[in-house]
Amino acid sequence: MHWKTVLKAGAVFSAAALAVTALAGCKKEEVPVSDAAYLQTLEQSDIWVNSASASVPEYQIYHHVHAFLDECAIADGSAVSPEGKTRKVLFLGFDGMRADAALQLFEGTNVFDQSLGGGRQAASGIRTLAAQGGIYLAYCGGEAGTNTEQTTSTSASWTSQFTGVWGASHGIKTNDDVKNLQYKTFILEYAEQGLHTALAFDWDQYLDVNLKEEVKLALSNPQLSVKFCDIDREKKDKLKKTEAETLELYNFVAPGNPSPDAPFDSGMRDWVLARMAAGDDVVCGIFHNIDTAGHNYEFSPRNAQYKNAVYTCDSYAYEILQVVTARETLYNEEWLVVFANDHGGIGQGHGGQTLEERTTWIATNRLLDETYYAEGYDGFTTQER
Ligand SMILES: [Zn+2]
Repeated sequence: MHWKTVLKAGAVFSAAALAVTALAGCKKEEVPVSDAAYLQTLEQSDIWVNSASASVPEYQIYHHVHAFLDECAIADGSAVSPEGKTRKVLFLGFDGMRADAALQLFEGTNVFDQSLGGGRQAASGIRTLAAQGGIYLAYCGGEAGTNTEQTTSTSASWTSQFTGVWGASHGIKTNDDVKNLQYKTFILEYAEQGLHTALAFDWDQYLDVNLKEEVKLALSNPQLSVKFCDIDREKKDKLKKTEAETLELYNFVAPGNPSPDAPFDSGMRDWVLARMAAGDDVVCGIFHNIDTAGHNYEFSPRNAQYKNAVYTCDSYAYEILQVVTARETLYNEEWLVVFANDHGGIGQGHGGQTLEERTTWIATNRLLDETYYAEGYDGFTTQER
């Protein structure tokens, strides 16, 4: 337990936390959990590889992917490791899933949702992945109080994870910004090296606005094997017919049996499984509806709907992990698997700089390079990169 850190973070931040909470639209009678108390809750658990004071900046995911694939000889559309295995990457995003919701998958009992059987989730994707490698405390929002500070929001965060830098460099600090082409996502980078890559989300804004320059680049080069998919968009909607048909962008995937709290996440699971079956090398999918549940009800593992969305996505991730394991045996493949969230939340919103919003998590089957830990991180320590 890092008492000095906890006390310092709490002392520095209590006034700001209240201000941000007011902006996020919390009900007046709600008392936000203080930053200090939140860190204490997280650090009381031993599930984490690291301590909160050594949290990992979320952009480390990009470097983690590069470290794995750049050891390979990449030729003829595949990445082959020094040991002769075909290397592939699976990234699953859990939009808006707070770090303390991850705690409950390991330690909690689900007293809210009897349909899930109560108790600890038997088939947990996040717990299974953490057992293969580890789960880390991480952070979004840039280095608070510096020029790299960015909103604790979806577009800024996923883009930092995909490009390896904060929004001050890639251009997205809020959900309305557009990524520049100076910093490419690893999804585009490895497509340019000849690998087959794919990214799906069900939020129009991300592909239509935030990544539009990159999507345009992909459209202009049909030789690139990159798929950007909006999971809930009918084919041809919004895009010109010819573009959609030529490049199979935005393929519609029908949701199978959607949970009321995660209507498109089963479609996401099926799309990820389909891309893996098609032989893609880098497959990225983002489950969105934990975030939706947070906005509709509350970002809190004590909220039944929020928790149900977490459990649903976690069980889908478990199903996908079983396929990874099977493929490694069947096809001499070696997968890097990364699960992560983009931000936390407080009340029914996020975007501010409280630790409930800033604190994120990363689970992966290969341990992260510790040189990228933010040394002495207390949620607000400057770490330039
Ligand atoms: Zn959100």
